Amino acid sequence: MNRLNRLNFSGGPGVLPESVLAETQAAITCVPEVGLSILGISHRSDWFAAVVDEAERNIRHLLQLPDSHAVLFLQGGATLQFTMIPMLLLPHRHQTAEYLHTGYWSGKSIAEARLLGDVRVIWDGESDGFRRLPAPPELSCSTDAAYFHYVSNETVEGIQFHAIPGLDEIIRVCDMSSDFLSRPFDPNRFDLIYAHAQKNIGPAGVTVVIIRRDLLAHAPDGLPSLLDYRTHLKARSIYNTPPVFAIYVVLLVTRWLLHEIGGLEKMDAINREKAERLYSAIDDSSGFYAGWSMPEHRSLMNVTFNLPSAELEREFLRQASGAGFSGLTGHRSLGGIRASIYNAMTPAAVDLLSQFMREFASLRHA
Ligand code: PLP
Repeated sequence: MNRLNRLNFSGGPGVLPESVLAETQAAITCVPEVGLSILGISHRSDWFAAVVDEAERNIRHLLQLPDSHAVLFLQGGATLQFTMIPMLLLPHRHQTAEYLHTGYWSGKSIAEARLLGDVRVIWDGESDGFRRLPAPPELSCSTDAAYFHYVSNETVEGIQFHAIPGLDEIIRVCDMSSDFLSRPFDPNRFDLIYAHAQKNIGPAGVTVVIIRRDLLAHAPDGLPSLLDYRTHLKARSIYNTPPVFAIYVVLLVTRWLLHEIGGLEKMDAINREKAERLYSAIDDSSGFYAGWSMPEHRSLMNVTFNLPSAELEREFLRQASGAGFSGLTGHRSLGGIRASIYNAMTPAAVDLLSQFMREFASLRHA
């Protein structure tokens, strides 16, 4: 893999593992079992049905997912889920959905849900600049809410839940777009999980949805076919033309997680180690770097920080780019610096960034 790819700290899309990139490159020319380019293989072929089956099996295996939950591969990004979820769960319940407003992406999901029904924001971090997450006593979840929605990792601000919030007796819905398959969790505590691929598990174009089958028994009538989860369940995620290429790469990434990394416990340990290296470069800088998030809510995926002035931030980015790093500019809504260290970012690349940060700080401090 070339140096630029290796040092791409972009918030999205994330980098792919080196071995997966090589397999993907070969598949663009020819998938050996089929003799065709992956870009020309029919979505109605037996081969592709087997790809979907194996990708599902691998996700089930990685998460220890019980049969009570279905796995779907959908299009429309995580953003379409902001709409499909209230379409399924809000209209016929005559209830209110409860959302946590913890950052940029949960804000987007709330705005979409409000177009479809009653939404109550039960905790809002906006006045604190989305630097922290609620402690359990701050959450007053209702026992009669239609569902409870939160974002496990706010990609823009770099804050992440390290424990599952909400009540187990209420339908729990989670946007895991930026930390799915980066750590183990108990899937039994979730009713609906969605995660687009382009952070940890593949290229943009496919969104994984894990849904408790029971929820579909109460789906309202008259939903447009493509926006009805039942359509995709029945068609085994091949209702209309799916993103064959993206789903194939998701399969390769799940194989990598299982066979090269050795599962989610191991992935988590690597991710923790990587995050620790960057956060210690921040903490050791005597205040030169100011981390955006409160330490107990720091994200293991997106490390966000500021320098003492906008001018120094520009200089940092200019020199970083000269040294081969890319993707470090903070999200357009927040500014500052963001280093995204998804699953495939190597510890060696993180070491190089941490070294660069330390050197930059020591020269500017002198
Ligand atoms: N949710 C989270 C946590 C995200 O990080 C993003 C985008 O980065 C989205 C939702 C929107 O995803 P998409 O662009 O796939 O619609």
